[in-house]
Amino acid sequence: MLLEVRDLHVEFRTRDGVARAVNGVTYAVDEGQTLAVLGESGSGKSVTAQAVMGILDTPPGRITGGEILFKGRNLLTMKEEDRRRIRGAEMAMIFQDALSSLNPVLTVGAQLGEMFEVHRGMSRKDSRARAVELMDRVRIPAAKQRVGDYPHQFSGGMRQRIMIAMALALEPSLIIADEPTTALDVTVQAQVMDLLAELQRELDMGLVLITHDLGVVADVADRIAVMYAGRIVETAPVHEIYQRPAHPYTRGLLDSIPRLDQKGQELYAIKGLPPSLLAIPAGCAFHPRCPMAQAVCRTDEPPLYPVTPAPAPRASACHFWKECLGA
Ligand code: SF4
Repeated sequence: MLLEVRDLHVEFRTRDGVARAVNGVTYAVDEGQTLAVLGESGSGKSVTAQAVMGILDTPPGRITGGEILFKGRNLLTMKEEDRRRIRGAEMAMIFQDALSSLNPVLTVGAQLGEMFEVHRGMSRKDSRARAVELMDRVRIPAAKQRVGDYPHQFSGGMRQRIMIAMALALEPSLIIADEPTTALDVTVQAQVMDLLAELQRELDMGLVLITHDLGVVADVADRIAVMYAGRIVETAPVHEIYQRPAHPYTRGLLDSIPRLDQKGQELYAIKGLPPSLLAIPAGCAFHPRCPMAQAVCRTDEPPLYPVTPAPAPRASACHFWKECLGA
């Protein structure tokens, strides 16, 4: 397995108390696979990714339990020097906001080329040639002419392509993309997502795609892990989750997607707000917002119940997952 996150716990010590951001997250992704990690903001999906990449703000963040295995080696017990080497060459991250992730005073060619100079010891001339190749690969028109341009001279979609190029530069085996299309227009979103999926397939990489939008993952993901209040509440192969969700929160997210055949009808919205991570409700954390909640939900935290076994296992952290499947 390329990446395995096992029972990960992360907390943040704040002036107001301890925020339990990640509470026992377990997931895995293999080469050539895409795992979509889905949830509202504050669900713990980005914090989990930062822990995997080793870029968690520490302090106030602290990993308090679990393991992160990359190609079988636990990243959490590795020397920082080894970890840095892996982070540079074997796993890469794409962030939401390309403009603030790229250096505004360096040309994109210099930034892309630097990857080859620093990590591969290539000459400036050869690095620049590789930068042009990469820009071509992510389909930036007239790459040779534009390699000397600065980030602000590109559109939002093109800048995100440059971010993808930077992530791909050293041909990592794992990419983590954190809301890579959220800041873009809908049509550009689709193009960037298609490009990312195509490159992932071509290079046989593992991709962890973090998003709050179920609408963007249907065509690109193999599996989905749905997060709520720092836990995975449902995990399943992508098409099964769309057809028959086994958790009321997933059902709510699906019902909130606008559909062309429901023109004129009011769009469904899950009532209430996600809980504060400083005060996660007892029992099932979703119970204050859940239309199916019963008395037991207020007291007993549901484990991840197996819904279907391997080879494509499903699990749901809902006491009433059978009723949800049948709903
Ligand atoms: Fe809703 Fe109860 Fe299931 Fe939680 S355990 S999702 S509150 S039905």
